[in-house]
Amino acid sequence: MDRVLAFGCHPDDVEFMAAGTLALLSEHGYEIHIATMTGGEVGHPALSSQEIRAKRLEEAKASAEILGGHYHYAGGRDLEVEYSTVYRKLATRVIREVDPLIVFTHAPSDYLIDHEETSRLVRNAAFIAPIPLYDCDVSTKLTDCIPYLYYWNAFGLVDIFGRPIPVQFGIDISSVIDTKEKMLLCHESQREWLAHHSKWDAYTNNMREFSKKDGERIGAEYGECFIQHLGEGHPKDNILKEILGTLCVELD
Ligand SMILES: [Zn+2]
Repeated sequence: MDRVLAFGCHPDDVEFMAAGTLALLSEHGYEIHIATMTGGEVGHPALSSQEIRAKRLEEAKASAEILGGHYHYAGGRDLEVEYSTVYRKLATRVIREVDPLIVFTHAPSDYLIDHEETSRLVRNAAFIAPIPLYDCDVSTKLTDCIPYLYYWNAFGLVDIFGRPIPVQFGIDISSVIDTKEKMLLCHESQREWLAHHSKWDAYTNNMREFSKKDGERIGAEYGECFIQHLGEGHPKDNILKEILGTLCVELD
């Protein structure tokens, strides 16, 4: 069975931006893996970092299990993600463990530097994971090949200058929007935290709003837009179009 890995920074990032597409890929027989670079250690007003991390890892695992999938914590720390040797090794270890055919991660430009650094790290890890002499300090097998790599839309659907991300296509996720919401709702602690920190009590409404806007671009009720990494070494055909057919709508 081919594996798909959605590798985000914090528990709940994947659920906001790509869980609908993961649900569809799961329906098409793909094995789903969700990874996060950090354990979301700063995301609570009252619990300690260790306590909130433990809770968030449980929430992320429960979400992946909705798709019969697996969850991986890379081992990084919230608000400390940086493009460094330590983080490169953490990211490569996860990629080697999963050995995915398709990888999804953050857009290279996003509102939070943690997200942008995760995007660079995942991109690099996908590229270097098959290289025998690259040592990530853990003895895992090498990946078979460089995977397909896609970036999901930026949070809020704009880059740091407020401009739309140049996404190439959208996936019609209307049939799985309730599954996506169910996955997001596993992250119960974040609803509490965001209501406290950002006075933002619209957790699932926000997700539906983003999905609705991406859906409008492709003439669907709900959608998720992506851009494919076409750098040297990565496969360049759009395998999502091949798998999902008319649910994958290319943009002009
Ligand atoms: Zn995040």
